[in-house]
Amino acid sequence: MRIDLHTHSSVSDGTDAPADLVRAAAAAGLDVLGLCDHDTFDGLDEARAAASGAGVVVVAGLEMSTELAGASVHLLGYGCRVDDPDLAAELARIRAGRTGRLPALVARLGELGLPLTEAEVQVQSHGSPSPGRPHVADAMVARGYVADRTEAFDRWLADDRPAYVPRYAADVAASIALVHRAGGVAVLAHPWGRGSRAVLPPAVLADLVAQHGLDGLEVDHTDHDAPTRAELRALASGLGVLVTGSSDHHGAGKPGNPLGCETTDPAVYERLLGLVAARGGTA
Ligand code: AMP
Ligand code: ZN
Ligand code: FE
Ligand code: FE
Repeated sequence: MRIDLHTHSSVSDGTDAPADLVRAAAAAGLDVLGLCDHDTFDGLDEARAAASGAGVVVVAGLEMSTELAGASVHLLGYGCRVDDPDLAAELARIRAGRTGRLPALVARLGELGLPLTEAEVQVQSHGSPSPGRPHVADAMVARGYVADRTEAFDRWLADDRPAYVPRYAADVAASIALVHRAGGVAVLAHPWGRGSRAVLPPAVLADLVAQHGLDGLEVDHTDHDAPTRAELRALASGLGVLVTGSSDHHGAGKPGNPLGCETTDPAVYERLLGLVAARGGTA
């Protein structure tokens, strides 16, 4: 059984429509696909409708934008009841923060000599409910300012680059609690990717597990090199939490992360489903 638990569709900043993503998963030999769009469940119905015909199980997922000490932390939620009112309200706040940031981001780019309109970003986001910097990056590519998303982030959009504009995010511990109250399982996405090790050192991870019930760590991710994975795996094992692996596929937006390039152990998947069932989430 091949299980890829963290992927994005064009409903957030991936490039494949949900149904196409599911068909691509089947073609890639996957049995289980976690759809984890950023801060929205809007792609789930289409993905599920395509799933039965494609012979793929779609796990209802989410990648929530959260923060810790001012730094961005991504939290994966699996099996949440999508109609949970508290979770829905928080996701709406995050999406409003995403939309509300766009004018300032576009203005900043203009000051930096890279004029761009919000309309150009919307062309790239295809009206996504969850517009993000990758869509801004795509608009910059269309203007010829940069070659691809990576260059846009490396030169302008990354958290420490000149066009960065912060947006609303809730504390990671509060977000774990929201996932739990919606019946879901909370797994930290790429905890030591892109410099976030300083934000989430072992003591902090241990605290999130002991004090807030964090359920797992996404260890097998292309943002983690082999020594990082070994260290994280040992840590997760000591803490007794789930170890997941996933592609974090974004379609053409992240060509180095094809579907199934990283996978989750079937035994871990079964444990995850057991937790969801015990919490009254959606399988
Ligand atoms: P935002 O959601 O607007 O905060 O943008 C963050 C998203 O952009 C992440 O979830 C990734 O999908 C993507 N991203 C972040 N850093 C980079 C990078 N250096 N290169 C390409 N994509 C990135
Ligand atoms: Zn993304
Ligand atoms: Fe992420
Ligand atoms: Fe992701």
